[in-house]
Amino acid sequence: MFDICELHEPETLLEAKRIFNADPGLKVIAGGTDVLIRMQHGGLAGAGLLSLRNLHELEEIQLLGDGTLSVGAMAPFAQIFQSELIQKLVPILGEAAVSMGGPQVRNVATIGGNLCNGAVSADSASTLFALDALLKLQTLDSERIIPMKDFYAGPGKVNLLPGELLVAILIPREGYEGMGGHYIKFAPRKAMDIATLGVAALCRIKDNCFQELRIGLGVAAPVPVRCFEAEAYAQGREVTLETVQEIARLALKPAKARSSWRASKEYREHLIEVLAQRAVAEAVKRAGGCCADEK
Ligand SMILES: Cc1cc2nc3c(=O)[nH]c(=O)nc-3n(C[C@H](O)[C@H](O)[C@H](O)COP(=O)(O)OP(=O)(O)OC[C@H]3O[C@@H](n4cnc5c(N)ncnc54)[C@H](O)[C@@H]3O)c2cc1C
Repeated sequence: MFDICELHEPETLLEAKRIFNADPGLKVIAGGTDVLIRMQHGGLAGAGLLSLRNLHELEEIQLLGDGTLSVGAMAPFAQIFQSELIQKLVPILGEAAVSMGGPQVRNVATIGGNLCNGAVSADSASTLFALDALLKLQTLDSERIIPMKDFYAGPGKVNLLPGELLVAILIPREGYEGMGGHYIKFAPRKAMDIATLGVAALCRIKDNCFQELRIGLGVAAPVPVRCFEAEAYAQGREVTLETVQEIARLALKPAKARSSWRASKEYREHLIEVLAQRAVAEAVKRAGGCCADEK
C-alpha cells in the first residue's frame, strides 16, 4: 500500500494549475515510474498527489508555425520514438527514447517526468541539451521558457517554482535543422538499465567541415553538461580522424565524473572520450560527412 493522503486527477491543464496553485505542497505524478518507486521505498510518506494522467493536451507532439518542434511534457517515451515527426526531424531523440527502460516503462514514463526528476542519468536530458531545447513552464498566472542549463540545479534538483508545471519541451528549428545526430547509452546490460554514461552528438557538415557541433553528456557530472570547448574547437575544421579524436579529448573538460558502484571515475572518463569519439563519428556520417582519412 502507498501512503497517500489525497489524490487529485484534474481533466484539464487549467484545472491542474488551479489545484497546484491552491496547494503547492502537492506532489506531481505523471507516469509515476519514479514517484511510485520513491513511495514504495518509504519516501513522500502521507503525500497528496496531483496526477497529470488525464491531461491528454500535454501529450501532443507538434510542429509549430516557426518550425519549433513542441513535445508535450506528458508524451510517453513509446509515443516519442514512434512519432513520425520525431523520426523525421529529431531521430536522435527517438534513439534516446527507445534506449530507456523496457516496453512497459516506456508506455507510461513521460519525457516531462524524466526531466523533472532531475536524475543525471535521464536518457532524454543529454540529447535535449544537445538539441538546444527550451522548457516551457507554467503556473496558474505565469509562463517562462528557459534553456536546459537553467533547469538543472544539482543532483535530483531542478528549478521548478512552487505550483509550477513543465508543460512542453520546445526544440527550435535551428536546434535540429540539417543536423545529423547520434545518442549512445552505455550500460552494463543492453536493456532495462540506467546509463553509466550517455553521449549525444549533433553536427552540421558543409564541404566536409564542421559548421556546428553540439555534444551533451549524461552521468559525466552532477547534472547533464554540454561540451562547449570541444564544440568551439570543431567549428570550421575539416572532419579528420585527428579532429574527431581531439574533440573527444576536449569533451572531457566539463566532466566531473565520480566513482559509484556502477563505474569508477577513471572508467567513466575513459568512456567519455571513447564514446564521444564514436558518437561524433556517427553523427558526422549521418550529417553527410566522412572522415577525410577514410576517403
Ligand atoms: C524499471 C525502470 C526502468 C527505468 N529505466 C530508465 C532508463 O533506462 N532511463 C531513464 O532515463 N530513466 C529510467 N527510469 C526512470 C523513469 O522511468 C524515468 O525517469 C521517467 O521518464 C519518469 O517519468 P514519469 O512520467 O514516470 O515521472 P513521475 O515518476 O511521475 O515523476 C518524476 C518526477 O517529475 C515530477 N514531474 C513529472 N511530470 C512533471 C511535470 N509535467 N511538471 C512538473 N513536475 C513533474 C514529479 O513530481 C517527480 O518529481 C526507469 C524506471 C523504472 C521503474
